[in-house]
Amino acid sequence: MRILVTNDDGIHSPGLTALAKALSRVGEVWVVAPDRERTAVAHAVTLHKPLRVQQLGTRIYAVNGTPVDCVNLAILKLLSAPPDLLVSGINKGVNLGDDVLYSGTVSAAMEGTILGVPSMAVSQEGQEHFYFDAGARYAVRIARLILKEGLPDETLVNLNIPNRPFGSITGVRVTCLSRRRFDNPIIEKVDPHGRTYYWIAGTRVSWSRSKDADHEALEQGAVSLTPIHLDTTNHGVLDRFRKWETVRRPHARRVAVSSNLKGKQRS
Ligand code: MN
Repeated sequence: MRILVTNDDGIHSPGLTALAKALSRVGEVWVVAPDRERTAVAHAVTLHKPLRVQQLGTRIYAVNGTPVDCVNLAILKLLSAPPDLLVSGINKGVNLGDDVLYSGTVSAAMEGTILGVPSMAVSQEGQEHFYFDAGARYAVRIARLILKEGLPDETLVNLNIPNRPFGSITGVRVTCLSRRRFDNPIIEKVDPHGRTYYWIAGTRVSWSRSKDADHEALEQGAVSLTPIHLDTTNHGVLDRFRKWETVRRPHARRVAVSSNLKGKQRS
């Protein structure tokens, strides 16, 4: 088994080290990760400057790019053959609900999925003093299941781990993404020259609850496992929007009238 490990906290993050070490019991681990922290870059790709790869050890590479850059370079260039599994993390801090739209950790797993590799993002609750050994043990358990059973089409796993010792984690819950709300998300300040500047921040978080919400699993001390689908089409409302297709009709009629020739190819 060949396992690609990446992250968005950078190649020197202890979360990545713990994850790579634990997964080395499952297969041959390749680490390809950003050379510095790239948190919250989402699905960014570097198009306007060259990417450099630095080999730091056996099957360990640092890249001056984003997590998605790393996944592309790893799968399409650096690895001797495509990996059987991609695991991104362990991120310092949760990626719950709307976080997945901003997260470099989750985007790396999305990119793996796009490239046809079964992929999982792993994030751990907290801000410091992480129980990464506990998170890595759960990552290994789910990794073994993915390798054994595979994943549905265009689907990745988003795993969030409570920050507590392995023995006090209460199990795994299958969950749905919830909605996260920041209070006071824009902080306005004045610099020493009297000019206004802003921080995108926000401290207090509230959640709009839904059934099987991911954040509730962590509140109960359980690992949250959310299957995420790449197809973000809202299939349930397609019929409602199909009525809007009629806005094309006046143009179509004008073309039909002006050409008015049977058998002619329509433009
Ligand atoms: Mn991060």
